[in-house]
Amino acid sequence: MTTTTHLDPDSTHHAAETVARLRATFHTGRTKPVAWRKQQLRALRRLLTEHEEVFAEALHTDLGKSATESHMMEIGFLVREIDHTLRHLDRWLRPARVSVPLPLMPSRAWTVREPLGVVLVISPWNYPVNLALAPVIGALAAGNAVILKPSEVAPATSAVLAYWLPRVLDPQAVAVVEGGVEETTALLHQRFDHIFYTGNGTVGRIVMAAAARHLTPVTLELGGKSPAVVEPGTDLATAARRIALGKFMNAGQTCVAPDYVLAIGEAGAEIEGHLVEAVREMYGTDPSRSNDYGSIINERHFDRLAGLLNDGRTVVGGDHDRPTRYIAPTVLADVDPDSPVMREEIFGPILPIIRVPDLDAAISFITGRDKPLALYAFTASKRSKRRLIAETSSGGLVFGLSNLQLGAANLPFGGVGDSGMGRYHGLYSLDTFSHTKSVLDKPLKPDTLGVATPPYTRRKDRILRRIT
Ligand code: NAD
Repeated sequence: MTTTTHLDPDSTHHAAETVARLRATFHTGRTKPVAWRKQQLRALRRLLTEHEEVFAEALHTDLGKSATESHMMEIGFLVREIDHTLRHLDRWLRPARVSVPLPLMPSRAWTVREPLGVVLVISPWNYPVNLALAPVIGALAAGNAVILKPSEVAPATSAVLAYWLPRVLDPQAVAVVEGGVEETTALLHQRFDHIFYTGNGTVGRIVMAAAARHLTPVTLELGGKSPAVVEPGTDLATAARRIALGKFMNAGQTCVAPDYVLAIGEAGAEIEGHLVEAVREMYGTDPSRSNDYGSIINERHFDRLAGLLNDGRTVVGGDHDRPTRYIAPTVLADVDPDSPVMREEIFGPILPIIRVPDLDAAISFITGRDKPLALYAFTASKRSKRRLIAETSSGGLVFGLSNLQLGAANLPFGGVGDSGMGRYHGLYSLDTFSHTKSVLDKPLKPDTLGVATPPYTRRKDRILRRIT
């Protein structure tokens, strides 16, 4: 496990100074007015739409992403998230009246959302624009000051974020701190009002331990092995296309990508051919020449993935090339559930097919492992859908689709158990980045609390027992 003990004096000084500056801004109240929040969101929207090519270029440099995929999964996604937030923010921020129980009458009660203060967002490399800015949108909409720590593993994108954000957003309230372990460790020694971390579970534990020192609440958006259950009797050609789309976009480096196929009965044999067909349709016979197919982020991940390519019978793919960090979209069949490819989240373009005899076995397979971030199922049976909803636990459950569910702005996104804690997007981001304060206002007249005030007589006791 990585350690957080080394503290670099320069990074620490910079972190302390940045947090102090943002905290001072927050205390002036500058980030609270809805007008300020909307202004920030609009400025961010303008940046994304007017300079989309700058982000797309950085994403291509870091991950070989095509401009279309970058638009669909990152920039366009964020613009829609901003629009959704701007459209609903006034309503979301409206105080919500609640009723009061008889013993407290007459009085009025309601809830208000208040910003938390200074929020730290630590983001990963795989969707380095989306996963950095989607939490920032929520944090700003909720009226916080924000420090963003982008991933050093996607350096081109990190540099673009560090250059642009302070130029278009309020630099007294939003800061980008670039760097890796050292800089993040220094940040984590500071006190924040919320820490929003996206990445792997090992670092998630470090973040949570650091947050505990200051009693800072955390959101942990982690990963894990997300299964795609496939039942016979469904349209397997379409299912294969949708699984392949989710699996092979961004060369499989997607937290919600189907990690493996869990094929029931004869669907196991049938899906193989459809997956081969789907890969050919999307990327041609030589995916290394496709402009739409990405590369592996770095050599460390390339080597890790190359070591998994032989865990089973290769149905399609298997080719790889270290200098270009290319690993072909690969489907593996006859995979032993205990083999290395089935032990850890794959996070790359390798799709093992595990065969199980029936839905009972599929459900036991899923519930016998860590709770996944996403569970996908392709089935024509309403009963199977009901059973999967009721008998499994996962961050999200999606029928008939993979990955693109994240575009449904009204749905929360987050994990459960090993796949994380907390949720965001849309209204759920506002929940995450604000405190819901309860307010109760009871007039001093009439004085109705006599019965609750000692000395307690038998009469008071009788009345109290009746009304409470
Ligand atoms: P990463 O290596 O970019 O790390 C994420 C962040 O943690 C970076 O900002 C990095 O600087 C920081 N970090 C790394 N080591 C640290 C340390 N020792 N102390 C403090 N901070 C440290 O990304 P990653 O973790 O390789 O990302 C991939 C993982 O993230 C996968 O497991 C994937 O499933 C998960 N993920 C989850 C989501 C989600 O939304 N749930 C999204 C994307 C990725």
